[in-house]
Amino acid sequence: MPAVTWTSRANDGAARAGLLVTPHGVVRTPAFMPVGTRAAVKAVDSEDLSELGADIILANTYHLMLRPGADLISQLGGLHGFMNWNRPILTDSGGFQIFSLDPEIDESGATFKSVYDGSLVHLSPEEAVKTQERLGPDIAMVLDVCVGLPAPRETVESEMRRTLRWAERCVAAHEREDQALFGIVQGGIDDELRAESAQKTAELGFAGFGIGGLSVGEKLTDRNRALTAAVAELPENKPRYVMGLGDAEGLLDAIQRGADMFDCVLPTRVARHGRALSRFGDFNLNRVEFEDDESPIDPRCDCHTCAFHSRAYLRHLIRMKELSAHRLLTIHNLHYTLDLIARAGEAIEAGKLNSFIARAKEERANGSP
Ligand SMILES: [Zn+2]
Repeated sequence: MPAVTWTSRANDGAARAGLLVTPHGVVRTPAFMPVGTRAAVKAVDSEDLSELGADIILANTYHLMLRPGADLISQLGGLHGFMNWNRPILTDSGGFQIFSLDPEIDESGATFKSVYDGSLVHLSPEEAVKTQERLGPDIAMVLDVCVGLPAPRETVESEMRRTLRWAERCVAAHEREDQALFGIVQGGIDDELRAESAQKTAELGFAGFGIGGLSVGEKLTDRNRALTAAVAELPENKPRYVMGLGDAEGLLDAIQRGADMFDCVLPTRVARHGRALSRFGDFNLNRVEFEDDESPIDPRCDCHTCAFHSRAYLRHLIRMKELSAHRLLTIHNLHYTLDLIARAGEAIEAGKLNSFIARAKEERANGSP
């Protein structure tokens, strides 16, 4: 029995609603994973995340292997014990973070400078797997090579092939039976490369598939095409995770094209800049019109923040740089994103996804706070 299995509940066009069964519980898909880069979703804790109804969260291998180190986390009960989160966790391998650090890549792995002390760190595909085995998430990711776009086709192709070779090494290194390993599809915005990458990654028999290297500067139409090309080659009975995608329109587009899992820092990052996500469009609470506005961010939102606090109060907290502003906006923005995905899942089950998406996009484009 693999550590993680996915079964479909309903289909609507290419979109699917399903259940991902993991050692730490069941995840309803489509699913959004709040990002806890350093074993913390910024400004909130595990209790807040439970209250929000998050089924699964993400943490980052690259950061955690440097601080506080995988051995210490392992000694303290793995990530689940360390952060007292008893539900599913996925760790990213670090490929994406390393790519942003301008690494030296050769066949052995990636060499990059630690953001913490500037020392040179080498990470091989095998070490990425072993580190994640010590961190103990339910789902680990292979080490991939992410290419920033636009990039020459030769570069996209050669790094896609390197990702495939590294994926084989990750499979060979992975031993932990209570943990699933997902492959990662690369190939930029080239349909043929995406299809080939997906096909060959699928042949390696992973329990699920990341689709990486998107949301890195490409046009929306190109992203959606690349996604369609990749999904077409992936097995029907395994989950597909679009890495680093988290804006409302992008999530809806990807769900419509058959993607099941997502993560992104966007909801939590913009919260710390005073920006609220909402069904009537995203807006900054710092605007002067909210100075004496007694209504919540969204009167129809049932999050903790909207139940207790006015726009006027939140605006004041943001302007005074009160730390509670970060927590309250993070709670609302995560609730918005989790709720959007949950409602998309319900729409799939009702066979009404396309009209749900059209309405949600229309309200966001033409609404106002
Ligand atoms: Zn709210």
